[in-house]
Amino acid sequence: MKAASFVSRIICFLVIFTLFVSIDGHRAEAAYTYQGKVNVDSLNVRSNAGTSYAIIGKLKKDQVVTVYENRQGWSKIAFGQKYGWVSSQFLINVTWTGYVTGTNLNVRKSPSATAGILTQLGKGTAVTVQGKDGSWLKVYIPSKKVTGWVHGDYISNNPAAPAPTVTTAATKVATTQVVLLENSNFRKGPGTNYGSISIEKAGTLLTKIGESNGWIQAKRADGVTGWVAGWLVGAAPSSPLKGKTIVIDPGHGGVDGGASGRLYVEKRLTLNAAVELGSLLQKAGAKVIYTRSSDLYVSLNQRVAISNQSNAHAFISIHYNSCSGVCSGIETFYYNMAKDSAMARSIQSNLVKSTQLRDRGTKYGTYQVIRNNQRPAALVELGFLSNPTEESLIGTSAHQKKAAQGIYNGLAAFFK
Ligand SMILES: [Zn+2]
Repeated sequence: MKAASFVSRIICFLVIFTLFVSIDGHRAEAAYTYQGKVNVDSLNVRSNAGTSYAIIGKLKKDQVVTVYENRQGWSKIAFGQKYGWVSSQFLINVTWTGYVTGTNLNVRKSPSATAGILTQLGKGTAVTVQGKDGSWLKVYIPSKKVTGWVHGDYISNNPAAPAPTVTTAATKVATTQVVLLENSNFRKGPGTNYGSISIEKAGTLLTKIGESNGWIQAKRADGVTGWVAGWLVGAAPSSPLKGKTIVIDPGHGGVDGGASGRLYVEKRLTLNAAVELGSLLQKAGAKVIYTRSSDLYVSLNQRVAISNQSNAHAFISIHYNSCSGVCSGIETFYYNMAKDSAMARSIQSNLVKSTQLRDRGTKYGTYQVIRNNQRPAALVELGFLSNPTEESLIGTSAHQKKAAQGIYNGLAAFFK
């Protein structure tokens, strides 16, 4: 029937559209977000903004959730793979104290570089960070009693944030560094805003003479001095992973379960695989940092911050996949072609070799944990929980060990 077919087409479109925006629970991000903490013993989560809507779950006291929207006394929050709504009066805005790292930092009326300027802040000024919109932070400045927006690049949560000055070579032993990535910029100063002196090839040796804020001051073989981003160079160690700092990010956790199949919930599998990977890396002499090591909710912002603040050599986010049709296999996402894609390719090919699962290839993905990451970052999807055959395989500890070995081999090959 014509009408039925039209309706089913609409439904089909809606299903596909919904999948597109929420595949694997990686929610599309709204503009202004902040963290809310539950201030009652038990808080109903409803399917929409009102007490007449179905209760889809509960939050416990002190649980922290990300708030995406406010509507007539109701807050839209991340809940499991979906969104839920809670009464706003039972959430307290979780804030943190930040410190201005630049000089004359503009506080603007809205999160845009063209918005009007309310005031300017001196270096070291304390601000209360209430929420964020992209790279912009919504702040309250207690000393001026002003609320506005500042760019997140100029705010640190460390009151003694190192000033962007040079750690002099006098106190450091000069070490030989090798350029890790092809076409790395050798710059006039410690930041991407400084001009390029030359473009260096992978494998080029430089002598490190200082460092500042994750940037390495180095001398070329011809004696010219310049700066390279710390993640572009590394000492040439005995094992390619020895001395490397690797941040492992087990996807989801706590209130955010991620995808679920018939047997397994994503958040548990990601943690198991992460621990397997971590122990392999530690044996090779790498320093391993987990964004979570228990069933804990950690915001995407926090995960990225851990990577950026630890000057990690690599950030690996571990996930398991889901789709509505029949899907199978492994895929690895990168965001920045120059910074991330070579590592993603190395991980993907070694994962496929080790697990023998279908190769879905490497893909560009705009997931926050890799998009906002200043370190080389990859997000791996280790198979489909929505595929019962694949789920029963990928959930076993034997297979998780294979997956961990695959990622490990990929990292070792990348850093070699
Ligand atoms: Zn996931």
